[in-house]
Amino acid sequence: MKRKVMILDTTLRDGEQTPGISFTPEEKLKIAMQLDEIGVDIVEAGTAVVSEGERRAIRDIANAGLSAKVCSFARMLRDDIDAALGCDVDAVNIVVPVSDAHIQKKLRISRSELVERAVEATEYAKAHGVEVEISAEDASRADFAFLKSVFKHLSEASADRLCVCDTVGVLTPERAKDIFGELKKENFTLSAHCHNDIGLATANSVAAVISGADFVHVTVNGMGERAGNASLEEVVIALEILYGIDTNIKKERIYETSLIVRKLAKMPVAPNKPLVGDNAFTHESGMHVHGTLADERLYEPFDPRIIGRTRRFAFGKHTGRASVKMALDEMGISTDQSRRSPTGIFASEEQIDQIISRVKELGDKGKLVTDADFQAIVDDVLQIKREERIKLIDLSVVSGKHVQPTASLRLTVDGEEIVVADVGVGPVDAAINALRKALSSRKIDDVRLDEYHVDAITGGTDALVNVVVKVSRGDKTITAKGVSEDIVLASVLAMINGINRLYERNFHNSTIRIRNKAKKNTELSAR
Ligand code: MN
Repeated sequence: MKRKVMILDTTLRDGEQTPGISFTPEEKLKIAMQLDEIGVDIVEAGTAVVSEGERRAIRDIANAGLSAKVCSFARMLRDDIDAALGCDVDAVNIVVPVSDAHIQKKLRISRSELVERAVEATEYAKAHGVEVEISAEDASRADFAFLKSVFKHLSEASADRLCVCDTVGVLTPERAKDIFGELKKENFTLSAHCHNDIGLATANSVAAVISGADFVHVTVNGMGERAGNASLEEVVIALEILYGIDTNIKKERIYETSLIVRKLAKMPVAPNKPLVGDNAFTHESGMHVHGTLADERLYEPFDPRIIGRTRRFAFGKHTGRASVKMALDEMGISTDQSRRSPTGIFASEEQIDQIISRVKELGDKGKLVTDADFQAIVDDVLQIKREERIKLIDLSVVSGKHVQPTASLRLTVDGEEIVVADVGVGPVDAAINALRKALSSRKIDDVRLDEYHVDAITGGTDALVNVVVKVSRGDKTITAKGVSEDIVLASVLAMINGINRLYERNFHNSTIRIRNKAKKNTELSAR
């Protein structure tokens, strides 16, 4: 029998304490439901005493019929606990500072007074029929003998779970093993709550679990104060894949959850973030792509599908023959003279060399090589003529403090001129809405905008703006960019560029469409 550890997710409490982050009650409910669906055991929904909005959010989550237990954070104060109880939660997480620095400087009481208050708060909450978890704040810097005696008292007061908090992220895996191993001898039900100040949150959480923690506190994407908390994705994957310890988490929905949270939190994750970062399963280097095509396991820790991701191959200065051949194959262009391609187009070894050097040239300039860039290079080298269905003629926008941003566009679709106007939350949104309106009048209406990124190429307000979009239609995904000093124009150009590629009809004066083959587990993309 595999051991199983329970997951308490505190994205909505500690995660929301990330500087600059605040969720609306509706957003909190949406995240809580997602966490419940993927198998989180306890959802820490917030701190009830904070505000009326917070209480509404916690109450809505507690009454949403989730399988997960719902808890609220509280200090050892009646008001805090009453506020939590008023939100119909299953559990209260009572914070009990245990290091001498916290007891003396923050609470300004004695150790014995602290124990008294903690016992009282625990008994009060328990008397109202909720579970109690004790969050021993700053436990990793507390006197261990005292921590143990606090836990003994609170265990006798019927606390359900005792959590060792590494509040400032200074624990090491070795000490975590000692602390949890020692406390486990008392048969306590233990939780671990680790912060990532020095990058050890996952390692410490795993060490705690190995040595006896029954619950582990995490946040999605490692959100949280300062450098954040132990991340759900890293802890779950480390435990399940490296240590063979089970959780109730549906691993294949981890990536989706990361995307939902980053969108609602408006907090992007670093491209190199383990497991969920953009580049976590992206290969650019020719050597790695070649190896990965020979055997997927060569340059990947595990199959990305396990967490609901797909492998990507990107173009750049490290691009090699294997990725170019694969991309040409995806585009329906043969690289093997003995095989006829769906488009009837063939690329010779010399032409492939030319494509590679052109891609490297662009990559060398430090430029992002999008799928559309790659396609433009291929078209040029193989002299493919494509019909651009959509062409922008003119664009104008009005925006300001007291006017609703409005954009009007003049463009041609299949040679026919269209003039449209639409509004939006800002000028870019208005322009994209106008574009969509124009296109849907010509039945081009099934393109999804998956990602939108803006970068200023130089520092000033006169900078060239580089907009990169990821657009999809059916199972085909394309990255494309638009560059201009005008952010609205760059955005519209990027969209048109991408949509033109997705809606390609005629090229090489033939009517054969680009083969849109099901993409195995491979997403050709530069991002
Ligand atoms: Mn914390």
